[in-house]
Amino acid sequence: MERTELFKKIKRVVVKIGTSSITDDDRISAAKIEGFARQISSIRKSGYEVVIVTSGAISAGAGILGMKRTNLAIPEKQALAAVGQAVLMNEYKSCFSLYGCSVGQVLLTEDDMRHRTRFLNARNTLNALINMDVIPVINENDTVAVNEIKIGDNDTLSAHVYSLVEADLLVLLSDIDGFYNDLNDPEPVRFIGKISDDIRSRAGGSGTKHGTGGMVTKVNAAEMIMRLGGMMVIADGGEESVLERVLRGEMTGTLFAGQSVKVNSRKKWISMRKGKGIVVIDDGAVNAITKNKKSLLAAGITHVNGRFVMVDIIDVVNSSDVPVARGIVNY
Ligand code: GLU
Repeated sequence: MERTELFKKIKRVVVKIGTSSITDDDRISAAKIEGFARQISSIRKSGYEVVIVTSGAISAGAGILGMKRTNLAIPEKQALAAVGQAVLMNEYKSCFSLYGCSVGQVLLTEDDMRHRTRFLNARNTLNALINMDVIPVINENDTVAVNEIKIGDNDTLSAHVYSLVEADLLVLLSDIDGFYNDLNDPEPVRFIGKISDDIRSRAGGSGTKHGTGGMVTKVNAAEMIMRLGGMMVIADGGEESVLERVLRGEMTGTLFAGQSVKVNSRKKWISMRKGKGIVVIDDGAVNAITKNKKSLLAAGITHVNGRFVMVDIIDVVNSSDVPVARGIVNY
């Protein structure tokens, strides 16, 4: 299907802006943020609802304090985020006010995604902001998010935000203009309908055009979104009017689109969580939960890996270790 056709019903868009798209020599660039403010205020005028996920807090903090980001201990990075987040937000506020738009800061952690009530509370707040015509500007709450409770990168965070606000499209803007199958290809792949093992290994290997780590998290984010039947575009944040071009359905960047799925909001939420453990089940139980849509009973469990308690999310695999379900522990 043509992009223009696929994008016809898009109303709510999450735009993730990577550090590289809003910095110059490790300093926050007001000119670059203003460029996004111009584009975003213009697409809002044409009827889209926009939620921003921004990186750059740690870099901004490092710039202000004249420090390098490398070789820092975690508390030091968190301290830089504390300094930088305020600077970052201030730039967003000033730049958007030039176009008559208000912004509101929302800082999230893994905990806010994991606990269903916190997730729903965050959803209500974000919807309220959107209804008040305020653009939410989201980042991870880096100052408190230590390893165990960290989402860790803003590609993954933006996939969670996509599910949180029930968006129609996620646009990841960075210095990468899409997903490349091969280093020598002149253009990125334009459409990906399924994340194959090949794509996964190319994202992690040296086959992509611009670095590696960055593509792994982007492909993971795409996978999370496709599981929800959603769509994501990776595009170059430095390209002229990139957001307008993407939304018009022009052939820029790489589009990832999942098959539409009809599951309720709670199941979608479960599908986005990371399992705290793995439960291996026998064939009878596989049948019961996948075909007959029953709950899993203890009798069908042959093996348990990991530590988890009631209300944790776990992955369920068959005797050959193939994932068959994900669920919440009841007892
Ligand atoms: N939250 C981090 C920051 O604002 C960015 C994480 C990322 O870029 O993935 O500096």
